[in-house]
Amino acid sequence: MHVAVLGAGYAGVAAVRELETALPDGVDLTLVDERETHLVQHLIHRAVRKPDLADRLTIPLSELIDRATHRQARVTGIDPDAGEVDLDDGSLSYDAGVVCLGARTAFYGLPGIEEHATPLKRLSHAGQIREEFDGVSPGGRVVVGGAGLSGVQVAGELATLGRDRNEPPHVVLLEQEDRVAPAFPTSFAAAVADELESRGVTIRTGATVTGADGDTVELETGERVGYDQLIWTGGITGGGAMTGERPTVRANLRHGERTFAAGDAARVIDADGQAVPASAQTAVRQAGVAATNAARVVEHQRDGAGFEPRLERYRFESLGWVVSVGDGTVARVGGSELRGSAARAVKTTVAAGYLGQLGGVESAAAFVREQFGHE
Ligand SMILES: Cc1cc2nc3c(=O)[nH]c(=O)nc-3n(C[C@H](O)[C@H](O)[C@H](O)COP(=O)(O)OP(=O)(O)OC[C@H]3O[C@@H](n4cnc5c(N)ncnc54)[C@H](O)[C@@H]3O)c2cc1C
Repeated sequence: MHVAVLGAGYAGVAAVRELETALPDGVDLTLVDERETHLVQHLIHRAVRKPDLADRLTIPLSELIDRATHRQARVTGIDPDAGEVDLDDGSLSYDAGVVCLGARTAFYGLPGIEEHATPLKRLSHAGQIREEFDGVSPGGRVVVGGAGLSGVQVAGELATLGRDRNEPPHVVLLEQEDRVAPAFPTSFAAAVADELESRGVTIRTGATVTGADGDTVELETGERVGYDQLIWTGGITGGGAMTGERPTVRANLRHGERTFAAGDAARVIDADGQAVPASAQTAVRQAGVAATNAARVVEHQRDGAGFEPRLERYRFESLGWVVSVGDGTVARVGGSELRGSAARAVKTTVAAGYLGQLGGVESAAAFVREQFGHE
């Protein structure tokens, strides 16, 4: 029998690790990813200000998997009922699978946005954003569209980076909802807004972007906001072979007869009926449930049992949230907001814990040094 995990981000690596121990002997396990490395995506905004960190944010997949085989290929199509996958160099079939292909930046077909704005999803984007920022004239304007986790964090990095200049560029963060970090608790969002403003970021909420040309961003009101650099972090949509809207999956994460989905690849409605925010934290937790369910499908097929296998259900229980805003950090732990060194310690512990758990001990140490080497 054969189990396949598609995508080696947070969800994919977590799912493979679970399956490596959960699957009975004799079942083959394949991890498909177009890259050779796992990207620690939730820290890539850091590489905008600190390019040296970039090397530490990729970890060779060969160091992360044991029993599984990595197939380096691009997924171009999936039949989740039949368990058939089209790859750029062939195909594969599986008896049970977990789709963890992440998401792409959504440009929503807004005229000029994809053409003129730089997204932030891969390390190459972080390099490009840095390069563009270095070319912004003194006192110029940097516009960031979308104030989710990536938007607030990149705006904070750029405002901090600009502080060392004689005439720092103005960083303006546009958000169509009535607050930054709209998918998160209101008190957390208020603390994040406060931290951004204290670092010189201008926040404009209720600002719906409708398009852009080479010099200005257009808002729904008809106002045009001039820019020297434009970054777009306005949302996510289906990535890779999952083009279009991300599929919605229910709490058992079932995406087809023999397929489960975890992480950004799907819009997950949890056991309490709530839509779960896309994040590294939720991707890892969902992967545990999806992997358990894939292993149950295998067991069920091997035993030739007649009934449906009993499937685990995912319930979103937040461990808390933590974002960095330049050298500042805002954390929400146990229902309260923390800022300053206490929050930074939480962020460092979470990030270093993740890297350490993956075996990236050097990366974890570098991250701890980077966090405490300033301010
Ligand atoms: C700048 C930034 C800051 C963030 N900050 C935070 C934060 O502070 N806290 C937090 O919890 N989350 C944060 N996030 C969100 C978090 O990084 C994502 O939610 C998380 O990466 C989702 O994990 P995933 O495994 O679903 O997808 P990904 O990590 O995106 O992994 C998808 C994998 O699939 C592979 N893949 C994709 N398409 C194909 C294909 N067609 N064929 C083969 N392989 C393919 C990719 O190479 C990749 O390895 C941030 C994101 C960004 C961009």
